[in-house]
Amino acid sequence: MSHSEIIVVGGGQAAAQAIASLRQYGNDQAISLVGEEPILPYQRPPLSKAYMKGDFAEERLFLKPTAWYTDQNVTCVLGKRVIAIDRVTKTVTLCDDTSLSYGTLILSTGSRPRPLPIPGAEDPHVFDLRSLGDVKAIKPHMKAGQRLVIIGAGYIGLEAAAVARAMGLQVTVLERADRVLARVTGAVMSDFFHREHERQGVTIQTGAQVRALESDGDGTVSVHVDGGAAITADLVLAGIGIIPNDQIAVDCGLECADGICVDADGMTSDPAIFAAGDCTVRPLWPYGRVGRLESVHNAIEQGKCVAAKIMDQPRPKLDVPWFWSDQFDLKLQIAGLSDGFDAHVVRGTPADHQFSVFYFAGARLIAADAINAAPDYMSAKMMIASGAAPAPALLADPAVSIKDIAKNAIAASA
Ligand code: NAP
Repeated sequence: MSHSEIIVVGGGQAAAQAIASLRQYGNDQAISLVGEEPILPYQRPPLSKAYMKGDFAEERLFLKPTAWYTDQNVTCVLGKRVIAIDRVTKTVTLCDDTSLSYGTLILSTGSRPRPLPIPGAEDPHVFDLRSLGDVKAIKPHMKAGQRLVIIGAGYIGLEAAAVARAMGLQVTVLERADRVLARVTGAVMSDFFHREHERQGVTIQTGAQVRALESDGDGTVSVHVDGGAAITADLVLAGIGIIPNDQIAVDCGLECADGICVDADGMTSDPAIFAAGDCTVRPLWPYGRVGRLESVHNAIEQGKCVAAKIMDQPRPKLDVPWFWSDQFDLKLQIAGLSDGFDAHVVRGTPADHQFSVFYFAGARLIAADAINAAPDYMSAKMMIASGAAPAPALLADPAVSIKDIAKNAIAASA
């Protein structure tokens, strides 16, 4: 059995960040990276955007070049899954029955697409969009004129819809909730994206319960929706959310709750084991509660925090959660978490394609969604971080400088 002082399980953004940060902090221990995918860590955001469209070269996806891992003395064990952790002997077992022992373990196992819970989901014309392999599988089918049905109007569904329209496909989006992007934004922004997609020729059905997919035998699929006529598709894409990959953590008795529970340093209930990224349930600063964050920001931040803790360094400064999405000519930037808001204010005019929605809990600003409005997004982040309570009437007036509003609100909250 071989030994690594540090074993990183999972080869995504959090893994690459944790390793890079460890080396930046001066760590010189042997590190092994065990990844299920047969390739080095890569960035996922371009997959449903520029890469899918063909505007982003594959080499650019990789977070670090191959030589970097060699230079940094990182042993990459790719195409292998860790199936068990023994916390007593400090060993992990891989799917090929080999074992590795560790001093410190970092779990960055990520998440997997929620499977479509309906008959016909295994049809070869039905695709997920999570990995580079998924995009490579669907890309040859993305041809002008093809009928694409997308199930789920989250980020995956709407970003893929925008790319597919740009490529000339006919696109129908079926969303079970009563509005698009319901999990991540408020009704104003949902309505805006719904209208913009329709304006670009996407057909959207909300409140759509997909009952079954049925192969028509001629290479097409009938998509059966409750209470409606079947929709014929040449290809179907499912984007109905993700499930955190926490099973090996559950099996070895780590505290888990729909994700691996970690503290602000990324430490699990076993001090020799850390976790980072989509697979974790973490304290949500500055909200005073715990939850899962499915974002690049989260993977990077937790990767850094884990490395700092292992190296006995101060915890890096935490950031307000942030997200972004590119659809058509629209850049959505989200600062903070809006769930639970009790009031909102709109700054600017949606029809101008440059506006923001600010969300409040009581007087306190908790989140903002900005469309093509980077200064609003940046100012909101600073205000949320300092617990500021900007006056809604000022925010609603685009004639008042957002920088002045932020400066004054932050000073008042100090
Ligand atoms: P998502 O944002 O969770 O959205 C999934 C949507 O599908 C939800 O609105 C959900 O509604 C709906 N849904 C669930 N079951 C359904 C069904 N049977 N029929 C129709 N609709 C159904 O997840 P996603 O878009 O699949 O994205 C997957 C992951 O990739 C997420 O972690 C996301 O953050 C990440 N991602 C992020 C970006 C970005 O930040 N720009 C881009 C791409 C992907 P209910 O709420 O009712 O279940």
